[in-house]
Amino acid sequence: MATESETFAFQAEINQLLSLIINTFYSNKEIFLRELISNSSDALDKIRFESLTDKSKLDAQPELFIHIVPDKATNTLSIIDSGIGMTKSDLVNNLGTIARSGTKEFMEALAAGADVSMIGQFGVGFYSAYLVAERVVVTTKHNDDEQYVWESQAGGSFTVTRDISGENLGRGTKITLFLKDDQLDYLEERRLKDLIKKHSEFISYPISLWTEKTTEKEISDDEDEEDKKDEEGKVEDIDEEKEEKEKKKKKIKEVSHEWQLVNKQKPIWMRKPEEITKEEYAAFYKSLTNDWEEHLAVKHFSVEGQLEFKAVIFVPKRAPFDLFDTRKKLNNIKLYVRRVFIMDNCEELIPEYLSFVKGIVDSEDLPLNISRETLQQNKILKVIRKNLVKKCIDLFFEIAENKEDYNKFYEAFSKNLKLGIHEDSQNRTKIAELLRFHSTKSGDELTSLKDYVTRMKEGQNDIYYITGESKKAVENSPFLEKLKKKGYEVLYMVDAIDEYAVGQLKEFEGKKLISATKEGLKLDETEDEKKKKEDLKQKFEGLCKVIKDVLGDKVEKVVVSDRVVDSPCCLVTGEYGWTANMERIMKAQALRDSSMSGYMSSKKTMEINPRIL
Ligand code: ADP
Repeated sequence: MATESETFAFQAEINQLLSLIINTFYSNKEIFLRELISNSSDALDKIRFESLTDKSKLDAQPELFIHIVPDKATNTLSIIDSGIGMTKSDLVNNLGTIARSGTKEFMEALAAGADVSMIGQFGVGFYSAYLVAERVVVTTKHNDDEQYVWESQAGGSFTVTRDISGENLGRGTKITLFLKDDQLDYLEERRLKDLIKKHSEFISYPISLWTEKTTEKEISDDEDEEDKKDEEGKVEDIDEEKEEKEKKKKKIKEVSHEWQLVNKQKPIWMRKPEEITKEEYAAFYKSLTNDWEEHLAVKHFSVEGQLEFKAVIFVPKRAPFDLFDTRKKLNNIKLYVRRVFIMDNCEELIPEYLSFVKGIVDSEDLPLNISRETLQQNKILKVIRKNLVKKCIDLFFEIAENKEDYNKFYEAFSKNLKLGIHEDSQNRTKIAELLRFHSTKSGDELTSLKDYVTRMKEGQNDIYYITGESKKAVENSPFLEKLKKKGYEVLYMVDAIDEYAVGQLKEFEGKKLISATKEGLKLDETEDEKKKKEDLKQKFEGLCKVIKDVLGDKVEKVVVSDRVVDSPCCLVTGEYGWTANMERIMKAQALRDSSMSGYMSSKKTMEINPRIL
């Protein structure tokens, strides 16, 4: 039956990416194999998951495997999996016409000096095939469609054709790379084995390499040889006879092929933590996350008793480029049930603020055929989640023991901790201990709330903070004058999210957190100070009234200030409304429910400072 091939243009950004991959020199081309194996592993995960609720999905090909086939006759390397495969529209969409958000980001990263090995993190790993291949052919069969062939030499377009070659995959995908002339090294068995061991050791499906064995078989007519060897003495004679025989023997080269299993597949989490090296954890972390760097910290633990599970959790060194991309719900804990992969974005497993933590959980108790719907009500999962959050926080405390590591961690993930303060009432107190701020007394360093408390002045009952756009903007704020004069330390909260976090935190170790910019800032004062204040108030009541009349509705009221020392005046937010900083943040956000902002953006009180008159 004749079949027509359709030609499609690569989406513009993908086309650009392909040109970059093909025309730039990269020393690290070998990562293409890891990327393609990782795609195969994902595809296998998908079909295995589907088969948990419908066994017949495996009928077309019951075995789950990855095969690697080098072929020196055609200079091709094929990666074959019995995963979920792609329908025709999957092929068109996934491999060329719909650009991922990561396409552009990856090109920008490359331009900024990123290594090509980072490609997997950006969700465009497939295209790394063109690091080594001049032409790529993808043959694929999905349960819901016919077998199709995708083919491209890059150069702007690709074709998709129904497969009439007669080769039957059953189900899955075969990616054939027509290697560039200078990349034929990737046909060598040793090289392939090393690469798979190096980058894909922890793939949980068997990876087998098609190996060629050449054996030289000797065919001899003489059947007495063995007997002669047994005779004692006459050593020389025997040797001579042997030599003669050898001349008579025929040598035949026999070429045989066999599958050689290359990866171990024993899951790392089933092993004893004390027997696993740092390098092994790093290799596992990399294969799990596609990260090119090692993890910052790891925790490997098991919970036993009423409920049993094992877990390995990692904290990366950096935040991913799309950490707070709301389009993409990130969740990096893979769920396994008794060694079977179930899903990798199980939202019930870990709260959003911890979405940067990566790892796996393997439960002994959950049913294998658990569905997303039933997950939500699942009690076992709730307990796992609680444990997981606790262990994550423990891990952060472990990181905090090393200042350099913690600085790195804090720079990357402080926003997450603050989100945690906001969201996680159960662990709020614990997370608060992990916060760090600059302050009027911390210099270039950051200080913890705990350290702040130990430095509190005698008679100081509260923790003071000021919010604002930047350290520079708040450092010389008139709001700090009185506090500074009294020797009270003030924390600088200059991250947009600080405002939300502190709003929930309210106190630390029994000490209230007080904003220096809100109305009603009460500082302890002596009788003498109180009297002076009262006098001033009375004396300038008239002036306050005049100013209020002039300003009208622009301010709520005008009063004599108690907090400014050197500045002439300041605008103060109502105790329960948003601070000026919060208003700035809310305005900047799309989150602009006008009814809410009218209510929350309180009128300002103007405080004047007659002391400088
Ligand atoms: P990513 O794997 O990060 O999503 P890729 O560029 O590597 O990005 O792959 C794009 C998409 O193509 C995948 O999301 C997947 O849907 C599909 N795909 C790639 N390789 C395979 C495969 N071996 N089997 C099935 N689908 C695949």
